[in-house]
Amino acid sequence: MSSYDVLDRLRGALETRLLTLGDAGFQEASSLVFTGDARTPIAVARPRDEGEVAAVVTIAAESGTPLGVRGGGHAYARHAVVDGGILLDLRGLSSVHIDPAERIGVAGGGATAGAYTTTAGEHGLATGFGDTPTVGIAGLALGGGIGHLSRRDGLTIDNLLGATVVLADGRVAETSEAEEPELFWALRGGGGNFGVVTSLRLRLHETPVVTGGLLVFEPRGATAAALIRATQEADETVSAMVNVMKAPPLPFLPADRHGTAIVMALVCHSGRPEDAATALAPFRAAGTLLADLVAEQPYPAMFQTGPDLPPNRVAMRTGFADAFDGDRADLAVALVGESPTPFAAVNLRPMGGAIARVPDAATAFAHRSRALMATVGALHPDPVVAAAGAEWADRASTALEVGGAGYVNFMSTTGETAVRAAYPEATLRRLAEAKALYDPANVFSSNVNIEPAGVAAGR
Ligand SMILES: Cc1cc2nc3c(=O)[nH]c(=O)nc-3n(C[C@H](O)[C@H](O)[C@H](O)COP(=O)(O)OP(=O)(O)OC[C@H]3O[C@@H](n4cnc5c(N)ncnc54)[C@H](O)[C@@H]3O)c2cc1C
Repeated sequence: MSSYDVLDRLRGALETRLLTLGDAGFQEASSLVFTGDARTPIAVARPRDEGEVAAVVTIAAESGTPLGVRGGGHAYARHAVVDGGILLDLRGLSSVHIDPAERIGVAGGGATAGAYTTTAGEHGLATGFGDTPTVGIAGLALGGGIGHLSRRDGLTIDNLLGATVVLADGRVAETSEAEEPELFWALRGGGGNFGVVTSLRLRLHETPVVTGGLLVFEPRGATAAALIRATQEADETVSAMVNVMKAPPLPFLPADRHGTAIVMALVCHSGRPEDAATALAPFRAAGTLLADLVAEQPYPAMFQTGPDLPPNRVAMRTGFADAFDGDRADLAVALVGESPTPFAAVNLRPMGGAIARVPDAATAFAHRSRALMATVGALHPDPVVAAAGAEWADRASTALEVGGAGYVNFMSTTGETAVRAAYPEATLRRLAEAKALYDPANVFSSNVNIEPAGVAAGR
């Protein structure tokens, strides 16, 4: 089938909700949060319901046209835009419905963490996502989903009760522990490999207020280590993301600090407000404070949008660590100081708590016993500077020994090495079997791709 025939069929199914090169809005609709190598899709399909999603998937599958799926558009590897492919833009499926009596939230496949969190917050309820409001719930949840409430409530996937999925053959499947359980297992960590999720049902937890925000310190390895230790020793209502990073131009930091190394923690205490000061005291004592923005606030206020940045090229190296202290923590400070990009960070997220209580085999995210998630990232809009940033990220993650296994949602690369890092052997085998069952022709391939079992075995 020629690309003209593909476009005709898509136009027939979507009418004005199809954009092609030259249409007003095509450029904007095919841009993502990050930029990179030039890729132009043949069309942007903007369905408004699961029937239209199914039509697009069927046309892509029958014509052999590559398909990319966009939720919130934040993937570091820019999976959604495939050169010569169809970009399936789910932003039209962004509904959020909160049932406070049943404590269930229902999010459309294109809904964002911020929109859901604001609506749930009106009822004093929350489902844990990440730290950024514009990230898509489905994109985040399909890889795992780690954030402010994970030590208390588990990963986002641990709060996923069910999902509606358009499969590669255009069928619409309901999935949960009881229905299509193997698909439900695979979705929880397997990324966008198994279908297009048009709706997610999520468990809500009472979270009326939290005490949280940023703590910024002088750049000392011992401070980063103390913050990590404080999180691990705190009860599960406390989480922290600890960054050794170059200071962004934040208004509450003196101008001469911008672009220099700092240690910054984003902490969140979601227990009883009267316990917060004691629980957070070890964090405030972790080093020499430059800024303390921690305050009691409604949970949705933790989801602040950052400054509007030009589209950046990004290099993310993801891994896990079982300890991060002593020489290693000092080395992180030194490495960040040497980075060629004004934004460079070593991000450390203590796990444990409710994350670790779920057995590895229960979902396709199988790194639950690791103490820390560790990510090294650099970004810059200029290709030459960004390439130097990518080299730095490689060097830093090797020196800090945080490579090997990694979190699929923090990968900016794809291919065999990425897939093997994302999934331990047994998990990958089971995912490949599920892929053979639900997407044998690998229609959903623009992701950290799991090859169907027969294909992988036949190579
Ligand atoms: C600034 C920033 C902060 C982040 N913070 C966190 C964090 O705190 N915790 C965390 O766990 N992760 C975090 N992430 C990573 C994030 O979870 C992943 O990048 C995720 O893939 C983004 O989802 P998206 O829908 O926004 O992106 P997209 O680029 O739209 O989607 C990424 C991929 O996910 C799949 N996908 C998305 N929606 C669907 C759907 N409805 N059905 C099927 N497949 C779908 C597709 O394969 C798609 O290509 C962050 C990323 C950024 C850029």
